[in-house]
Amino acid sequence: MTAAEGMPEVDRAAASRAAVVARRARAAVKEDVRAGRRSALDVAESAWREPDGVEGGMRVRDLLTTLKGLGPTRTLAVLERLGIAPVKRLGGLGHRQRAALREWLKQRSAVAGHGRLVVLAGPTAVGKGTVSAFIREHFPEVLLSVSATTRRPRPGEQDGVHYYFVDDAQFDAMVAGGEFLEWAVVHNLSRYGTPRTPVADALASGRSVLLEIDLDGARQVRRAMPEATLVFLLPPSWEELVRRLVGRGTESPEEQARRLETARVELAAQDEFDVLVVNDDVRRAAEEVVDLLAVPGAPSRA
Ligand code: 5GP
Repeated sequence: MTAAEGMPEVDRAAASRAAVVARRARAAVKEDVRAGRRSALDVAESAWREPDGVEGGMRVRDLLTTLKGLGPTRTLAVLERLGIAPVKRLGGLGHRQRAALREWLKQRSAVAGHGRLVVLAGPTAVGKGTVSAFIREHFPEVLLSVSATTRRPRPGEQDGVHYYFVDDAQFDAMVAGGEFLEWAVVHNLSRYGTPRTPVADALASGRSVLLEIDLDGARQVRRAMPEATLVFLLPPSWEELVRRLVGRGTESPEEQARRLETARVELAAQDEFDVLVVNDDVRRAAEEVVDLLAVPGAPSRA
């Protein structure tokens, strides 16, 4: 056999040996992730630092299926949502795909490991605002997400504290930029949305997050982040809900009628929620919610 004939075969043999070594190395990485010795995010970051390395050669699909609770079907659904084809390898992802996967992994690991995401929904005027204000005051370690809205500020409401008050064009731009974790039209009137980044950052740093949003938004969060706990705040009775709604006196009669109708529809959705909390006493209801947020040392029931 001449050298010229022999070389390609040697190359082929070497290549196949290298492929076996690489496959074994990738299997070891997967095993590390499965055993909790390495985070999936760490694997992805290594792949992006060195796309030709072991991690760079891993299929995204294989990395995701090592995560708890992610079977093949859910993995494909996640990949589709992130805009990543199932055959893609970590090292071959584009800039946007990397950003999307990074954020998804951050949120997931945070929810699984430390910070919890709790969504508080319920009918209009049930007292979601009062319960979340109580939590804001007594449990500052919880991040209360500040939504953007196109509705006008009410007296006493501060931009950046109660809401980010934006106009339609600004809201459109935020939607187009993918800045919202969820957004919805509430009471057929104004748009409200949860900015994605503060939630992801808080969860990634181990801080628990509370979203006080409407039913439509809660459903979107459930789809985007199945680990979130969905809480439905109930009034002690329908009569009490009507009394609270009318008693508030900040809305016109037309607006009140609209909100009552929304409340009827929303009450009917309580079965979709993980936890029902009756708001007969603000402190007790707030503490039930805080329990779900797993804040260290909280709540103080003294
Ligand atoms: P209000 O105008 O009284 O402050 O709020 C009206 C409704 O909008 C409440 O039911 C509140 O939970 C909901 N809401 C506030 N922020 C958001 C948000 O970011 N997303 C969604 N989907 N609903 C929100």
